[in-house]
Amino acid sequence: MGEEERRRVFQFIDEHFGDFVTDLTDYCAVRTVSASGEGFKEGGRATRELLEKWGISAREMPVPNGPNLVVGEAGSTGPILCLYNHYDVQPEEPIDEWKSDPFDPVVREGVFYARGSSDTKGNALSQAIAQAAIQDARGDLPLRLRFMIEGEEEVSSPHLNAFWKRHQDLFEADGATIEGSDHTAEGTPILRLGSKGILYVELTVRKAAVDQHSSFAVSIPNPAWRLIAALRTLRDENGKILIPGFYDNAHRPTEEELAYLKRNRYDPEDFMKTYGAVEVLGGDTQWARLQHMVYGNTCNIDGFYAGYIGDGSKTINPAYAKAKLDFRLLPGQPPKDVLKAMKAHLKAGGFEDIEVKSHGTFEPATTPLSSRIGQALLRGYQAAYDDEPDIFPWSLGSSSTYYYTSLGTPSAAGPGVGHAGSKAHAPNENIRLEDARRGIKATAAMMLAFAKSD
Ligand SMILES: [Zn+2]
Repeated sequence: MGEEERRRVFQFIDEHFGDFVTDLTDYCAVRTVSASGEGFKEGGRATRELLEKWGISAREMPVPNGPNLVVGEAGSTGPILCLYNHYDVQPEEPIDEWKSDPFDPVVREGVFYARGSSDTKGNALSQAIAQAAIQDARGDLPLRLRFMIEGEEEVSSPHLNAFWKRHQDLFEADGATIEGSDHTAEGTPILRLGSKGILYVELTVRKAAVDQHSSFAVSIPNPAWRLIAALRTLRDENGKILIPGFYDNAHRPTEEELAYLKRNRYDPEDFMKTYGAVEVLGGDTQWARLQHMVYGNTCNIDGFYAGYIGDGSKTINPAYAKAKLDFRLLPGQPPKDVLKAMKAHLKAGGFEDIEVKSHGTFEPATTPLSSRIGQALLRGYQAAYDDEPDIFPWSLGSSSTYYYTSLGTPSAAGPGVGHAGSKAHAPNENIRLEDARRGIKATAAMMLAFAKSD
């Protein structure tokens, strides 16, 4: 990319940054909570209109039993780059902990607060503006962009698979970016080349039709103890997962990965600042904590419910107990294999009375830094920041990466607008406006680098 071209692209972004704030305010005000199915129609429409406003030709495509997926196209020659995002958001609870209305965005001291601002409406908008900046500076777009913005990611996209099977051609491209990555607390951008997978399960054990007087626990087994016993067979005190075969095919670190990971300054110890965590796992050094964070799995208890936990005492033996769990998985650990192994493991341990229900899954995926998309991202960051990005083989979270990589489309997280304290899924979700401004520039520079590299 020529110096002069880049200067004009970045200038457009600076001049239109006010539009980013206004458009994101309107977009985040559309309440699109997929967990409760709110705002599906409005979300699809608002997304389509937003893309159209920035010169992208967009259409809403029906997803069987789900909300519409918005496809936007810009550019008519050059390599194809898919830009995946979602317009749905997580529920806002606990509402008391928000300092302002989650769906009435406000800017306080350079920070934009709203549900969905970082995850991931801000990223979709930043990409729309980035391509407009290129079109304005050059008079054309040297690549073909395909925006794909769905409405159910936050509930693990239960209907996307059926859509994907019917429309695989849409997922075939020379590269794809999945949502947007974020920045460290200091503002260093982060490049993520994939995502961990997820298996979400619900375990239930029922020992009676109704709750009973607690004295009956002498005769009727207590389901909470039973569920605890089953859970304890899944994972040891150090976090090691005890399901046979769980680690057998898990991705092992490559030389390329270790080389870039070693240069990273990011320290998981940041979680103590950002989330007030009292301790961070993985070891005494940054390098040990970093490797643990990247190559570690989780068997996490999202929630555990049984009996009475209200004020005072109520003596009951609950009829049932329930736990929700999720496993974060590396490439080589397909969720369906883990589910099968977990069921077999519970059965072998005599836990036939534990009912296992699986919710959505996402497959793990990663792409080499040496790929076209990996290199374009790297050059995009180098153009927009005075700094090298921290690079990771995947994000800790899970997303739709695999829908692209399984069809041979290399995919990585795009440059993004968030930061380590963005509090995605949590109260007071936010983005720092300076991160967003540079994230839009990195996105535009990445698009130009992607168009050029062959
Ligand atoms: Zn999310």
